[in-house]
Amino acid sequence: MKRLDLTGQQFGRLVVQKYAGTNPRNGNSQWSCICTCGKQATVDAQQLRRGLTTSCGCVRRERSRARILEDSVMLEQMNARGLTEIMRAKTSINLRTNNRSGVPGVSWSKQAHRWVARMSVHGELVLNKTFATFADAVAARTAMERALIKDDLLAQRRPSRKNGRRLSKEE
Ligand SMILES: [Zn+2]
Repeated sequence: MKRLDLTGQQFGRLVVQKYAGTNPRNGNSQWSCICTCGKQATVDAQQLRRGLTTSCGCVRRERSRARILEDSVMLEQMNARGLTEIMRAKTSINLRTNNRSGVPGVSWSKQAHRWVARMSVHGELVLNKTFATFADAVAARTAMERALIKDDLLAQRRPSRKNGRRLSKEE
């Protein structure tokens, strides 16, 4: 089968840089792409041409965050109550099973002999790093929680409806 040269073409956020051999699993040709976010990704030609892959994965990550936003009731509660508590409840259920540190999302890796900070949002890992010290791991996890919450709150700043009641005079 003849290979189409996709070099220089753009698919969503991905710009094809060069041919990257065939995928050993399915024989499809693969292309090395650079994403607008700066990350590199190797993607099957078919995935690109059918529009199935349009980013290095950052689009999916952003969508995960967007899904949190849609949960507006949850967000109101987050504003009113402890933000971190609710984020934890929502995101780290699966992390608790192997957590030994007492801090959700932070655990000790026997293999690596390091502390691991993890965070997943709707099943997608947004943080997975190891640290020499427990404090660093906790700091990384906390920073990620804050970043997610901050993003959510910024994106939430739509035209305000605080004075909505005043508008319902018409009756
Ligand atoms: Zn990207």
